[in-house]
Amino acid sequence: MRVRTLTGGLAAVLVLSGPLLNGPAVAVAPADAARRQAADDVVTYDTSGAAEFKAAVERGAAIWNESVETVELRPAAAGQRADVRIVADNGWPRSVPTSMGNGTVYIGRQAVDQGHSTIRIAAHELGHMLGLPDRKPGPCSSLMSGASAGTSCTNPYPSAAEKAQVERNFEGAPSGALLGRM
Ligand SMILES: [Zn+2]
Repeated sequence: MRVRTLTGGLAAVLVLSGPLLNGPAVAVAPADAARRQAADDVVTYDTSGAAEFKAAVERGAAIWNESVETVELRPAAAGQRADVRIVADNGWPRSVPTSMGNGTVYIGRQAVDQGHSTIRIAAHELGHMLGLPDRKPGPCSSLMSGASAGTSCTNPYPSAAEKAQVERNFEGAPSGALLGRM
């Protein structure tokens, strides 16, 4: 995703500097890491409580990372406090955001038992974490129409409008502004 968003000189610099991460030039790594982080806002997530939905959540996060440029969902490192906690439970899927890019997602088994797609559920709830409201009722082409599109709808991809809204939600950060000018 990152390379796809970069063009020209900066992409070349990143490619050239990449091997340094694995090489003996340890002193260079922090600067390189800082530059890489500057490409996006990063929202970390923790799937240690996601039980059988871990893979669906990872797929949902990957879909968002393919879909938008100004924010990246990334698994939290071991011992790191995640921005978004993912929890499996027996209720209806829901999100409890505390701020933009922060909160708790519950992947509820109730909707899964009714036949709703776990990846669509995960991507939908992550959409809430990225600042999107529900759009119910709505068509299957809309991720945020959620369960209102019916169990036959397995589309896990945000619509163009939903992608654009997330881009706007995160483009205010300095890193996003930098990326936007490139
Ligand atoms: Zn929802």
